[in-house]
Amino acid sequence: MTNQRSLAQGREYLAIPGPSVMPDTVLQAMHRPSPNIYDGELIEMMPALTRDLRRVARTEHNVAIYIANGHGTWEAALSNVIAPGETVLAPASGRFTHGWAEMAEGIGGKVELIDFGRSSPWDFDRIAETLRADTGHKIKAVLAVHVDTSTSIRNSIPALRALLDDLDHPALLMADCIASMGCERFEMDAWGVDVTVTACQKGLMTPAGVGFVFFNQKAQAKRATMPRVSQYWDWQPRANPDLFYQYFNGTAPTHHLYGLRAALDLIHTEGVEQVWARHEHLAKAIWAACEVWTQGDALHFNVTDPVHRSHAVTALRLTEGRGTPLRRYTENALGLTLGIGLGMEDWDGCFRLGHMGHVNAQMVMAMLGSIETGMAALGIPRGKGALEAAAAALAT
Ligand SMILES: *Cc1c(COP(=O)(O)O)cnc(C)c1O
Repeated sequence: MTNQRSLAQGREYLAIPGPSVMPDTVLQAMHRPSPNIYDGELIEMMPALTRDLRRVARTEHNVAIYIANGHGTWEAALSNVIAPGETVLAPASGRFTHGWAEMAEGIGGKVELIDFGRSSPWDFDRIAETLRADTGHKIKAVLAVHVDTSTSIRNSIPALRALLDDLDHPALLMADCIASMGCERFEMDAWGVDVTVTACQKGLMTPAGVGFVFFNQKAQAKRATMPRVSQYWDWQPRANPDLFYQYFNGTAPTHHLYGLRAALDLIHTEGVEQVWARHEHLAKAIWAACEVWTQGDALHFNVTDPVHRSHAVTALRLTEGRGTPLRRYTENALGLTLGIGLGMEDWDGCFRLGHMGHVNAQMVMAMLGSIETGMAALGIPRGKGALEAAAAALAT
């Protein structure tokens, strides 16, 4: 960056895999005085809000809302169905599965973790082996992270469901859709997911602070057998509130609810299927550019097979630890913030592109053009024609 003035002044672009870009309509909806939390508009908007949330998760079942981030929903979900001493199975394709598993241990559960490393999706043969060996059905739940945001691996939830069914294993299927909900295809009921956790600051485009736990009858039956569930995490009163107060066990996250309402309006106006299609199309343009860059042998995809890549986040590696310098350059000189290499062994080489939520084609082209600029400034070897490849992918 020597001899160069910063070109960052102007509207900044936060292209990290959460929090994502907040739409202006979400921000505007939140810019207002506090409402009455006992009566009136806020209470009246809740039934439609929970209905529209369920439409994004593709479920007819229950949703409990928590004033919490994703980590909070992990603990909330586990607290309702895993008693001390009970076992969960955690097939890990990245840092987030480890995090959820650690939380299960934290509430007194036991964890069987199968580690598939940082670049590989689940291996169903190995998962089957573990489930088959569990003849006494000690495993009460499988913690399934749909998209592991640290590695950008997307795992197949329907294939995991099919495996549990084939083996007649009664474990609950619990899915973490924090990175995928509102970004790529996820169908809680059709896919036979029993518990789904998500948070509002990624595909749901709302400032961090509200999280959701969706659960079906099977999960509810397990909840009914629990010796105790901490009152704050208990999903029961939140999902079937007699009083508005019970939705939140205290003061509602008033402004988040207004923001979320605006975000859900954006999603349903566009159409959930179209939201998924947009993410897929944009992801393909990003990959087309990255594919060209890899020809310089400095940049590599973390996930080789596109089938296992998320449509919402892409993890990349640069040789010689040049990921951090690239991120610094695009942020300081160009106004584009890229994601850190979270939970990866090569911290400085890895970085991630967030392309979740309120993102369109011109933003993707700006992101790719800025990365091209950064690689030029830093002298990083790369194939030529990445932007043309992205444009061609967008134009098809
Ligand atoms: C972001 C994320 C989390 C953690 O969410 P927080 O709101 O940061 O606690 C967990 N799992 C996945 C898959 C995520 O993408």
